[in-house]
Amino acid sequence: AKDEGRNNYQFYTTSLSTKNPEFLTLEKSLRYALERNELTVYYQPRVNIATNKITGMEALLRWKHPEMGLVGPSVFIPIAEESGLIIPIGEWVLRAACIQNQVWQQAGLPPLKIAVNLSPKQFRQPKLVETVAEILEQTRLEPHFLELEITESTAIEDLEFTRTVLRNLEKMGVHLSIDDFGTGHSSLSRLQLLPIHNLKIDKSFIQQLTTDVRVAHIVKAIVTLARSLGLRLTAEGVEKPEELDFLKSINCEDVQGFLFYKPLSAEKATEVLQNQRIM
Ligand code: C2E
Ligand code: CA
Ligand code: CA
Ligand code: CA
Repeated sequence: AKDEGRNNYQFYTTSLSTKNPEFLTLEKSLRYALERNELTVYYQPRVNIATNKITGMEALLRWKHPEMGLVGPSVFIPIAEESGLIIPIGEWVLRAACIQNQVWQQAGLPPLKIAVNLSPKQFRQPKLVETVAEILEQTRLEPHFLELEITESTAIEDLEFTRTVLRNLEKMGVHLSIDDFGTGHSSLSRLQLLPIHNLKIDKSFIQQLTTDVRVAHIVKAIVTLARSLGLRLTAEGVEKPEELDFLKSINCEDVQGFLFYKPLSAEKATEVLQNQRIM
C-alpha cells in the first residue's frame, strides 16, 4: 500500500478541515517542505486539437511527503492558502516553472507557454507584479511564454482590483488565463472588461458533454462567444474520444486532459517534448 501511495497521489486527495489534527500536522510539515526540497512541479501538456501539437504546459504542484508519498495539491494548497505559506510556495513554483520553460527552449525544443496557477491570496498580495517581473528577469524568459491562471471566482470577486492587476501584468507582456470558467457564475460580458487571452472551460462541463445535451449547448455557446471576443479556449479534463470529437466539431482550440496526457514529471515531460520534435 505504501508503494501505491508513492506512485498514485490520488490516494491523498481528500481535503481536511482546519480543525482536523491531521491538518495541523500537515501545516507544520508543509513549513519544512520547501527547505527540504519536498515540493516538485509536474507538467500537463495542452494540445492543439487541429495540429495535435503541444502548445503549452500547465505547472501543477506536488508534494513528495516522506511518509505519505506523492500528495496532491487539493490536500495542501488549502493549508498553504490558510496559513499564508502559499506566498513563498507560489513564488517557488513560478520560478521553477519559468526555469523549466527556459531549459526546454535552450535545448532547442519548440517554444511553448508555461501556465502557472495563482491562488486568491497570491493574486491579492501587493508584491505580485513585482515578483513576476523579478522572476522573468532572473530567468530571462520572454514574458509571453508565461501564462498566469486565476480562477473565474478569484477574477470576479473584485473586478476593479482584478482589472488593475491584470493590466499591470499585461503591460509586462505576460499572458492571462481564466481558469475553471463556468463555475463562477459570472458572464463573459463582465469578464471581457479584463485583459485576458485564454479561457479554460471547467472540467465539470466537459464531463457532462456527452451525457447532457444542454451542457453541450452551453459549451458550444461559450466557444462561439469567446471566439467573437478574440479569446483562445482550452477545454480541461478531456478523457473520452467522444468529448474530443465534439470539441473538434465546435472548433475549440486546445484541450488538456487524461485522454492525451496526465500531469508528468519534468523528466517525462521533457521526453514527450523531444519525441514530438522527432515526429
Ligand atoms: P486546476 O488548475 O483546475 O488544474 C487541473 C486539475 O485537473 C489538475 O489536478 C489536473 O491533474 C486535473 N486533470 C487534468 N486532466 C484531467 C482529466 O482528464 N480528468 C480529470 N479528472 N482531472 C484532470 P491537480 O494537479 O490535482 O490540481 C488541483 C488543483 O490544485 C488545480 O486545479 C489548482 O487549482 C491547484 N494547484 C495545482 N498546482 C498549483 C500551484 O502551483 N499553485 C496554486 N495556487 N494552485 C495549484
Ligand atoms: Ca489551472
Ligand atoms: Ca481548472
Ligand atoms: Ca480548480
